[in-house]
Amino acid sequence: MTSPLPRVCSTTELRWRTRRATAPSLRRAETVHRPLATDNQTDPPYPRHMQSTTPSPSPPPPPGSAAVFLDRDDTLIRCNDVTTDGDLGDPALVELLPGVRAACESLVGDGLMLVVVSNQGGVARGKYGCDAVDAVNARLNELLGGLITAFRYCPYHPKGSVRSFTREHPWRKPAPGMLLDAADALGLDLSASWMVGDKLRDCQAGRSAGCRTVLLGTAPRDEADNAIDFVVPDMTVAAGLILRERTRRAHGETPST
Ligand SMILES: [Mg+2]
Repeated sequence: MTSPLPRVCSTTELRWRTRRATAPSLRRAETVHRPLATDNQTDPPYPRHMQSTTPSPSPPPPPGSAAVFLDRDDTLIRCNDVTTDGDLGDPALVELLPGVRAACESLVGDGLMLVVVSNQGGVARGKYGCDAVDAVNARLNELLGGLITAFRYCPYHPKGSVRSFTREHPWRKPAPGMLLDAADALGLDLSASWMVGDKLRDCQAGRSAGCRTVLLGTAPRDEADNAIDFVVPDMTVAAGLILRERTRRAHGETPST
């Protein structure tokens, strides 16, 4: 379960790589950030490594663009239906939820970047390693035709069993660390960006980052911090909502509530 040490590169290099990636033929995914237990969050904050992906059907939008941050498990792919414990570390089990690919295509078609932000406490619980998370993410992006620009995941959990990953971490949702880091690396406009997920903590992370938020499923009765802007049944409706709200914003209309 050990992984090769990720190659370290600076934020400047990352931005350069991102700009270079605007070549239309083959987009490399932006970095997968892999926090390590030894990180002290000084400069550079986290080791990073590059991961190639499938060819993208369209070039990524330029820096300053908006993004849709997407939770992964039970938002884009089945998790609770295909695992006994909610920890998904097998790429062979990756299955898109209905309508997800079309929803993602419509968002990218409107100029939005897609960034997956996922808590992966299964690493801390010793269920699988970071390599397995990378493999699942790669399979997801393969099924989506390379539509995902960047992945962030948090392998830490305060109640883990793997000592090096057992602690709270600013990347673990509901904290906004993954979103803030991706926004910094990609030059995203967070106020024009969205967070979509199936858990309240997804929306809390999005709200803390300054994004508008969409919860998939049903609203929790004890939602006390007003982190949720919209509740919709699935990604198909979420994508339609986001595109509609972007049109309202483009025309200077007041956002829906
Ligand atoms: Mg989820």
